[in-house]
Amino acid sequence: MPLGQYACANCGFWQLHFATPPDCPVCTDVRNDLPADGWRFLPRAEVAATHEGSAREVAPGLWAFTTTPALGLAGTGWLIVREEGNIAFEAAPFYSNAMLREMERLGGVSLLAASHAHGYGALWQLQETFGPEVVAIQLDDLFMTKAFAVTAPYDETLELAPGYTLHHVGGHYPGQAVLHDAEHKRLFCGDMFKIDQEDGRSTAVSSHWAFHKNIPLTHGQLRRYREVIAPLDFDAVLTPFEYAPEVGREVALASLDDALSRPPGVRRFALATVNPPRHGEGNHDVQRHGGGGPALGEDGAGGEAGPLHHDAPHRGLPPRAGEDFGGARP
Ligand SMILES: [Zn+2]
Ligand SMILES: [Zn+2]
Repeated sequence: MPLGQYACANCGFWQLHFATPPDCPVCTDVRNDLPADGWRFLPRAEVAATHEGSAREVAPGLWAFTTTPALGLAGTGWLIVREEGNIAFEAAPFYSNAMLREMERLGGVSLLAASHAHGYGALWQLQETFGPEVVAIQLDDLFMTKAFAVTAPYDETLELAPGYTLHHVGGHYPGQAVLHDAEHKRLFCGDMFKIDQEDGRSTAVSSHWAFHKNIPLTHGQLRRYREVIAPLDFDAVLTPFEYAPEVGREVALASLDDALSRPPGVRRFALATVNPPRHGEGNHDVQRHGGGGPALGEDGAGGEAGPLHHDAPHRGLPPRAGEDFGGARP
């Protein structure tokens, strides 16, 4: 039987297999729910026949690729356009031919990486299509990378290109890593942070080991997050699901400090109604002393846990500079 790619209909995780996979390692993991009605795996051809997508330039030179209708966790594939070679971080759940042609028009992919398995999407398609010279995944997550070929496993840090550095943060996933873009002061933070948004505006930040069950991180894991990101300068974070220009370094550190100031438990840290200083240094307590509101309250009891972590895909992306590929089919 020939090998082929199959997507889990519940989470979107792709597996290379010679038959319908027996189960999905993302869904059997504690951090995700099992599908309520049993397994369903979608062969590549079926996904290609039923999905399309779009690309939006959310900031100059920063593109977001998304898949419609939503597939699995419905993440975003980021593309950083650079003269020296584009960087793709995370991947959309599936790329239609039109999406791949658009990516090619933008210069393709030279360097490819992802934070952790929830952000892999159809990363294998980008490797298959563009053959990037580097596919980088942190060492501790290599057990999840069967659908593609990692060329650059790394330990604690890896400089993908000058000013673009991967940092291992662990926590939510053993090999979770963030990508720091020093030039544009952005932190592609994986699921280190969950950003609540309303009407496209970030309202709260939280950190979890497992989102849907509201399982918190330990203090040791939170301290590790803090140690890694404190030296980095950034004005915005980008998860696989949200673009949050309201969450800079001070807010990110304040949310971690808030979590470290009390026993382990998930609490959403409300953003200030007035934006914090964007380039301030030294004062990590902006939230408390700079007009920040209180945390939104404990929700560790699981009362408002939603399905998976993101039931409203792409909500963090501003609705501008959009380019839809409606009707496109491979
Ligand atoms: Zn799954
Ligand atoms: Zn995750």
